[in-house]
Amino acid sequence: MKATERRPQQRPRAGEIRLEGQPVSPGVAIGYAAVAHEPVPPPVDMARRDCNPAHERTRLHDAISRSVAQLGRLHDRLALLPEDGQVEIGSLLEVYRRMLGPSRLRRGIEGRLEHGMLAEAAVMQETEALAAHMLAPPDRPAPQGEDAVAARRRAGEFREIGRRLVRNLSGTPYRSFSALPDGAILVAEQLRPADAALIDPSRIAAVVTEEGGSTGHTAILLRALGIPAVLAAHGLLAQVRRRTRLVVDGTTGQVIIRPSSRTAAAARVDVAAYARERQMLGRLRRLPARLSSGEVLTLQANLEIPAELPMVAQSGAAGIGLLRSEFLFMNTDTLPDEARQEAIYLPLIEAMAGDPVTIRVVDWGSEKNSDALSRVVGIGNGGDVNPALGVRGIRLLLQHRALLETQFAAILRAAHAGPVRVLLPMVSGVGEVRAARDIYTRVGRRLRRKGMEIPDPLPPLGIMIETPAAALMADVLAQEAEFLAIGTNDLTMYALAADRAAADVAALYDPLHPAVLRLVRMTADAGLRQRRPVSVCGELASDPLAVPLLVGLGVRSFSMHASAVPRVKRAIRAAAMDDCRRMACRALEATDGDEVRTMLATYTHDLRHPGDG
Ligand code: PEP
Ligand code: MG
Repeated sequence: MKATERRPQQRPRAGEIRLEGQPVSPGVAIGYAAVAHEPVPPPVDMARRDCNPAHERTRLHDAISRSVAQLGRLHDRLALLPEDGQVEIGSLLEVYRRMLGPSRLRRGIEGRLEHGMLAEAAVMQETEALAAHMLAPPDRPAPQGEDAVAARRRAGEFREIGRRLVRNLSGTPYRSFSALPDGAILVAEQLRPADAALIDPSRIAAVVTEEGGSTGHTAILLRALGIPAVLAAHGLLAQVRRRTRLVVDGTTGQVIIRPSSRTAAAARVDVAAYARERQMLGRLRRLPARLSSGEVLTLQANLEIPAELPMVAQSGAAGIGLLRSEFLFMNTDTLPDEARQEAIYLPLIEAMAGDPVTIRVVDWGSEKNSDALSRVVGIGNGGDVNPALGVRGIRLLLQHRALLETQFAAILRAAHAGPVRVLLPMVSGVGEVRAARDIYTRVGRRLRRKGMEIPDPLPPLGIMIETPAAALMADVLAQEAEFLAIGTNDLTMYALAADRAAADVAALYDPLHPAVLRLVRMTADAGLRQRRPVSVCGELASDPLAVPLLVGLGVRSFSMHASAVPRVKRAIRAAAMDDCRRMACRALEATDGDEVRTMLATYTHDLRHPGDG
């Protein structure tokens, strides 16, 4: 554990300085710095082995009691935080509380005390050992991608609880932000989630730190609090003193130290524009997603993890159009059984209060491969040379039917709580839909025989259209599936033979390519003919420029990240159906994605500046 040392006091340079950090919470602020240094605990003698174990145990237990009481006080503050902040910090406090209980961490610390160690040293060694184990497990490969992010977060949690125990053991006080002047920009070496929870967003204009990253709890919490924030702005503390003037842009990650009067004036314009934009997007929440020509569309949210739920409620989304259930299988050593899955779906369905929840059964394989699932049931991409074309999505589930049966059963058991739809990933042929439906119906019958309360008829079973084959055969598939959800992320990859995750073909990967748009059109037409609802739930649905075009292609329902809903709604409310259709005709005739993009940009410019041309 690294104690926070003060940096040597260099003389700050005069004149405007620009630093780049990680943008973690959008918005622009201008104000004076309030530097929050943290009192540093006294150095710890790590080598001592002559302490009295009983005495150190008592000190440890006192420090644990004080930590529990502090976390309790933080918990009492929860009600003051915005809803998504409550979710984030609430679950984190629960993690800390469990660690301080009869946990592996506690057993490890107490074990070290038996060797005559000082309690502070035992805490530091044990929390660091657990953190290191998280980051580089000795018995398996180092976590990658999402797993690596989760491992870093978990390691941070161990270190944080260790720091809290050491402060309480040594009686080192915590910093408090209550004395900071109104409108101050909080500057710190680092900010921990528990610190962030103490910030009053009505008094602090922005946060900048020297360390930190965009995926940690602190970043999530700052976003939830709506405070513009830039983390990891290296070089910050060498230049900033109390009352140094700063401009912080949480959207771009830029921090301007001692802005010139011109820069400050420009920043004030940005601050006002951002405030107006937020107000306007907030007002949109309650307005319908109606085209200026009167047609009403459906905007729903994609959900990756349940913690995003409050954002869905705030966004004004009319339900969940895609719940990617992969999160259930991540960072776990055991597969979630029927009861555990039901317990996760149920509150999600209840929270949507009558708006539909579309649960996609797990879509593993290709770039989403996880060693968690492979470890547990021995499945993975099977060493395919090209995993995107191998056993993934519904193919994988039909090879491991128990997984599919469990997930179907859990969804059906939760479905009495509200409208649910079930979605199959990566379909490429009608046989897959028939086989999955057989299983679905059988699971439904079994549950009914057991006397479970499940909807009759069963909730709609739909399919992702994300392979060119599925789009080309959409009219046939629509006879087997009750709704179609176009996954433009994969559809683009397969249509253009350009890997969605590979940087060297990124220029070829273009969801606005007319080849992709023609496949969308075919799917929308098939849905219309077969009277099946069609939605788009790939990233393209989050693009306010693209959505009017998709409307013109015949799509009436969109599912996107919750944060995109207000902007997409604004674009829809400004568009008329005739214009959408005209754009669609031109896009289908375009020669490439760039031509489509230019056309969309011109259309949007004309909307904003009528009469310019
Ligand atoms: C898609 O492919 O567009 C999609 C929504 O699925 P995912 O991004 O989860 O593969
Ligand atoms: Mg997909």
